[in-house]
Amino acid sequence: MKTLVTGASGFIAQQLILDLLEQGHDVRGTVRSLAKGDTLRSALRPHTSRADEIELVEADLESDAGWAEAVAGVDAIHHVASPFPLAVPKNRDDLIRPAREGTLRVLRAAHAAGVQRVILTSSCAAIAYGWGDRLPEVLTEKDWSDADNHADCPPYPASKTLAEKAAWDFVADEGKGLQLTAINPVGVYGPVLSDQVRASVGIVADLLAGKFPALPDVGVQLVDVRDVSAAHVAAMNDPASIGERYIVADAYRSMADISRVLREAHPDRARKLPTRRLPDFLVRLLALFNGDMKTIAGELGRRRFASPEKVKKLLGRELIPADDAVRATAQTLIQYGAA
Ligand code: NDP
Repeated sequence: MKTLVTGASGFIAQQLILDLLEQGHDVRGTVRSLAKGDTLRSALRPHTSRADEIELVEADLESDAGWAEAVAGVDAIHHVASPFPLAVPKNRDDLIRPAREGTLRVLRAAHAAGVQRVILTSSCAAIAYGWGDRLPEVLTEKDWSDADNHADCPPYPASKTLAEKAAWDFVADEGKGLQLTAINPVGVYGPVLSDQVRASVGIVADLLAGKFPALPDVGVQLVDVRDVSAAHVAAMNDPASIGERYIVADAYRSMADISRVLREAHPDRARKLPTRRLPDFLVRLLALFNGDMKTIAGELGRRRFASPEKVKKLLGRELIPADDAVRATAQTLIQYGAA
């Protein structure tokens, strides 16, 4: 197949491009700047002999330019690009607008060009937030985050929720004929392919660098990037996935669990990896002055957990264990000199 991967420079997109190439598909990618092409090809070269076959088109989610060219003649689109900030923005719309409008731009271009198949990288953030005290013990693909509950739905989850909703609404209405599947990963770890440290794996780099003297009592459900990519490819190959959402998730791990896994795998870094807990009252106090701490404080005492049963059926196997994903992140960050 001829495939398009949007946001080709990103962490998940790089793994997906690698898997698509290795499985014999042709790949075109979008980047915000063609200058990123060399970095992308050099990241992929050690892993595939086809790195130089990738075609790149410049397109930004915030502008119409480039999207018609990007989608022309492709059989399937993997829409992966979306803003994934390192810090919480002051204005929710700075994230929501590009995520939502950008998704609609890609779908409109696809529809106009007669490309039917679209696999969207949504997020479990579109499922697990905004529930407040009603958070179910186990979330499933039937659940949706409530983006209007700002207290329990920060800007990033709101952006993913509203972007995915807009996609399903478009397909049901103006975009009839489009065949959409949503992939909803939890926190994505696993191997990086270059020294470009991106949003989710940044926490492992920060832990290894000794940036945390103590750890807040919060956690996250984890998944390996290779499984997120595998879900994208499996969905593309399976018409039964059209119209479906797939949570891609393995185990829940606290920050202390992640630090322990890293200490065991890298005893030479043990001194930098915290064992002490940051007391809840201190997290809440720091939250008064710091936006990121405010997000962390909102997670104290919450355990957002989503069921991976549906995606296991799509893949026909178990997922890569969460601790292996964390170990692979650390090992590759060290290998590429990024930690
Ligand atoms: P990255 O930050 O590595 O990738 C994000 C990609 O989106 C980058 O290629 C970035 O381009 C691109 N992008 C951001 N803003 C724009 C814009 N305005 N126009 C065009 N492209 C843009 O993160 P991930 O690879 O982790 O994320 C990929 C997708 O997966 C996102 O949709 C994210 O929401 C989703 N996701 C990620 C999870 C995680 O834990 N990592 C969990 C669940 C979902 P550039 O290189 O130019 O910045």
